[in-house]
Amino acid sequence: MAAKKWDSNKEIDYFREYLRIPSVHPNPNYAPCVEFLKRQAKDLDLPIKVYYPFDKQNPVVVLTWEGTEKEWPSILLNSHMDVVPVFPESWTHPPFGADIDEDGRIFARGSQDMKCVGMQYLAAIRALKEKGSRFKRTIHISFVPDEELGGRKGMLPFVSSKQFKLLNIGFSLDEGIASSTSEFPVFYAERTVKRVIFKISGSAGHGLLLMPNTAGEKFSYLTSKLMEFREGQVKRLKDNPELQIGDVTTINLTSVDGGVQSNVVPPMLTACFDIRLSLDIKVLEFEAYLDKWCEEAGGEIELDISRKDHIPPTVTDDSNPFWVAFKRATEELGLSTKLQVFPGGTDSRHIRKVGIPALGFSPMNNTPVLLHDHDEFINADTYLKGVEIYQKIIENLTNV
Ligand SMILES: [Zn+2]
Repeated sequence: MAAKKWDSNKEIDYFREYLRIPSVHPNPNYAPCVEFLKRQAKDLDLPIKVYYPFDKQNPVVVLTWEGTEKEWPSILLNSHMDVVPVFPESWTHPPFGADIDEDGRIFARGSQDMKCVGMQYLAAIRALKEKGSRFKRTIHISFVPDEELGGRKGMLPFVSSKQFKLLNIGFSLDEGIASSTSEFPVFYAERTVKRVIFKISGSAGHGLLLMPNTAGEKFSYLTSKLMEFREGQVKRLKDNPELQIGDVTTINLTSVDGGVQSNVVPPMLTACFDIRLSLDIKVLEFEAYLDKWCEEAGGEIELDISRKDHIPPTVTDDSNPFWVAFKRATEELGLSTKLQVFPGGTDSRHIRKVGIPALGFSPMNNTPVLLHDHDEFINADTYLKGVEIYQKIIENLTNV
């Protein structure tokens, strides 16, 4: 049942309409999103373009509000259209119903991650246009597919396309995370994700022997080294309350495969680790450790490792005028912000990789972090407060 207070709020209606589109993995259909955004563009009187940097099933939608200084680098306001799967039986509201309760909580998959942000950008622009504002810099508002699976069908091919270059982007805003306190986290970097698979060969034979160089011994050695490293990171996090999870390296054993039967020593075991390197770790040095540990374990270990170096963080000092403008906007609003390293991966990394500064920011404070969880919600008041925050940020970013 809808709370009366929100019955005639146009922005809340648009937001709920967008939430009701089930653009959900594993096979999201983006056509209804594109159709909805075309209607939004019409209402906002803004031009809209649809690009297909990967294939026809994965559209990138861009609305544009042209500035007075057409040559100046533009501002990109990015959000993704896709959402992660749901287990409806765990929800107390239908996950694509966008129900609103008496307290103003709007329940839906994507209400935090991140259909809220996409619609807040548009709501802020609608309000600014109604006020008669005009800005120097051009603003592009992009809606991309496939972020939840790494952006390989969305932002990744888009940033290297000719069409993207023509947008002449100087700075980008993208998603952050809700905050359960009054503070607003602002993300300026991400850790580097490494998926490491060890294919460990060893002497095979009967389980009644004590053969040297078995895969099991090597596995045990490697695991102990990685777990020792992990312990050190757990301690760092515990000893320093200033540190967040994004500031340390995380290591987790995620799968183990191999073996034939209980009395046979197998010729191979495979172990996969999810490793996320913090910015203070030198990637090449860490990889050299892995090589060394494989040798120490007895060799004959094949390493399958996703080779990636750290992507330079977005500069957050006076040398970056966009950072200065963003910070000024939050100060004018009296918001308390905290710079952080994003613990997971977002499309910002693809944007930063091509040299464009990007900040991750989802203005939802005093809100439990429910992304990818059931009963995901945002409060309507928080949502509308966010629209005001974006107006101030847009005003600041587009005139520097
Ligand atoms: Zn997201």
